[in-house]
Amino acid sequence: MANTPSRVTTVTKVTCTPQLSLSALSTAATDKEIIGKQSRWVHPHLIESIDPIKGRQLRASQDIPAGTCILIDCPYAIIPVVDNPVTNEGLLCSNRACNRALRAPASRVVCSKSCLSDVAWCSTTCRDSNMAYHNFECNWLKRYAVPIRKKWGEYIFGMSWVIVRLLASQHVERITRLEDEEVRPMHEWKCDWRGVESLCGSVDSWSHEQVRSWTLLVKKYLQKSAVLPHDMTPDQVLHLICQEEANSFGLYPRETGIYPCPEPPIDRGEQYAAAVYPIAAMANHSCIPNMMHKPDESGRMIFTASQDILAGQECCISYFDLTEHINLTSRREHLRKSFRFTCQCHRCASEAPAQNSSDWSAMPLMEL
Ligand SMILES: [Zn+2]
Ligand SMILES: [Zn+2]
Ligand SMILES: [Zn+2]
Repeated sequence: MANTPSRVTTVTKVTCTPQLSLSALSTAATDKEIIGKQSRWVHPHLIESIDPIKGRQLRASQDIPAGTCILIDCPYAIIPVVDNPVTNEGLLCSNRACNRALRAPASRVVCSKSCLSDVAWCSTTCRDSNMAYHNFECNWLKRYAVPIRKKWGEYIFGMSWVIVRLLASQHVERITRLEDEEVRPMHEWKCDWRGVESLCGSVDSWSHEQVRSWTLLVKKYLQKSAVLPHDMTPDQVLHLICQEEANSFGLYPRETGIYPCPEPPIDRGEQYAAAVYPIAAMANHSCIPNMMHKPDESGRMIFTASQDILAGQECCISYFDLTEHINLTSRREHLRKSFRFTCQCHRCASEAPAQNSSDWSAMPLMEL
């Protein structure tokens, strides 16, 4: 299918109209604004299907033209990724329904318990409507954020915080379930905790060393305790880490997955957040994706068709910046290391024979 760089200009015309959820209509004005930003939207021609090899996937039930917005998904858990939380402009409002970029530190609303400098809200409204959620994580952050950062590094701290925020969302969902159940607009898509439970991920895909390290992390910081009152066993938390690692998204300021790569190449920019999206996580990877993705200003992930997608075709994104990993070896290495699979997309399959034979001939054994 023709996919020229000029197509990139057409895809900026997003043709969808996000729908407000019914719950948004029944709340106060300020909350309405926040919750309205949280609404999901799924294109009516996008369906979930099961492939015998790949498992769950997204597919088009009817033709979808290039440039069409296919999915707007809200994060179930999201954390900011910043170099210096005190001064960094990229810090996000901690209200999980808001997530807007925060301005200068002076205008931020901070936690009265000073749990962590990465936690701040854009307004008192955002903070006050977020209390059930933040109270779940506050004591854990205050006690463990600094030690984990110091002993395990920034990446593991971020991963642990995403786990805690997944549990915080589950906690809030449980206490608000009754009202939620009545107004949930898209019952066919699992966008609550059930969506998190059905994410792919298993301890078997990771090395023993990796699993041992996460097991220790769970034991020390993520077990059920007074500061982290969930009801999962250590094995269940470990499983949740495997799911999170296989399914979380990095949030970048520009599109991921424009193909062919524009010339000169435009990368997607610096990562500013990490999040788990229950529906978006179903998209499989292709090195010639037919969708590109980019978060909006409230942390929602937007999928847009980057070429015409025909009825029955799988809808794929690229899990990495295509301008960063160009040749087959680099792409495969990255996917194996970070996502634990070997890509078999059309592009990889068509490049593989030539690559394999050159690798093969380079092996010492072949020279004998
Ligand atoms: Zn806010
Ligand atoms: Zn706090
Ligand atoms: Zn591939």
